[in-house]
Amino acid sequence: MNISELAQKVAAGDRRALARAITLVESARADHRAQALELADALRSTQRQALRIGLSGTPGVGKSTFIESFGLMLVAQGLRVAVLAVDPSSARSGGSILGDKTRMERLSREPMAFIRPSPSRTHLGGVARRTREAVALCEAAGFDVVLIETVGVGQSETVVAELSDLFILLLAPAGGDELQGVKRGIMEMADIILVNKADGDLKAAATRTRADYSGALRLLRRRPQDPPDFPKALAVSALEDEGLANAWEEMQSLTEWRREHGHWDRRRAVQARHWFEEEVRQGLLAALTASPDIRAAMQATGDAVARGEATPDSAAAKVLAQMAARN
Ligand code: GDP
Repeated sequence: MNISELAQKVAAGDRRALARAITLVESARADHRAQALELADALRSTQRQALRIGLSGTPGVGKSTFIESFGLMLVAQGLRVAVLAVDPSSARSGGSILGDKTRMERLSREPMAFIRPSPSRTHLGGVARRTREAVALCEAAGFDVVLIETVGVGQSETVVAELSDLFILLLAPAGGDELQGVKRGIMEMADIILVNKADGDLKAAATRTRADYSGALRLLRRRPQDPPDFPKALAVSALEDEGLANAWEEMQSLTEWRREHGHWDRRRAVQARHWFEEEVRQGLLAALTASPDIRAAMQATGDAVARGEATPDSAAAKVLAQMAARN
């Protein structure tokens, strides 16, 4: 594969080239890995940045309906929109919640849009890297907005929040007055909570739920990088296209604030450092399990620890010292 040619096509916004490039970064083959890195380096000079929007919500809350309506609205404003998915279910089972081809049918037909389902059978660390690289490719291809979708399971939200500029939590109207067991940690990550399905019979419940979340958000620690009225909760109807323009305005105003105050660049810098360190960590772990010698030493020492012949800590210190001596 000619990488500089592929890089040129991606930079020119060619969607087929972009799809091929993402396939390349998803590959586990060592030669593909080298090409993927070469491609990323070649595209770095485009210096393009999209607005990266992370979107999380449990299955059935209306993520695909939202992305379809929201994406079509952005496209109608002349923006180019890419959609990527981080799907921990496919990482575990090979089956995907987010990969269904019938989702976002109208948006997928738009020439200004690009939709990429989650790859199956990658561990979460691999999914994170692949998504990060895919986001960078979409940016290099000139997309204005990259939506990164995930289901509210496990660690995938943290991964998505760490590669997004804005993190949006999509929730359904609550039946009672409980806050749907949304974990505090996840609420703390959200820049905007959208209570979806604010239409028809559900409208009153959605309005109440929005007020409950507004109250809950006010109790969270104030963030110095944000204007005082953020994070905030809004009610929307993805199905009836209600409140989406307002949600977009809020996203833009938060983004502008952060840009003006230097928080945007700082956040990107912190994220870049985080991903660099994470990549080194993953590489070390991979080296640990790849070497038969080290695996055997781990096994033998682990057995000794299990028999009570050494403490876990002193045994670990010894193995680490042995590894350091080998390098
Ligand atoms: P996802 O699993 O989060 O992607 O959810 P979907 O977008 O597939 O939506 C799940 C169900 O909720 C579908 O039957 C949608 O038609 C419905 N739905 C999504 N958004 C809305 C909305 O704004 N209002 C109503 N009433 N239903 C919605």
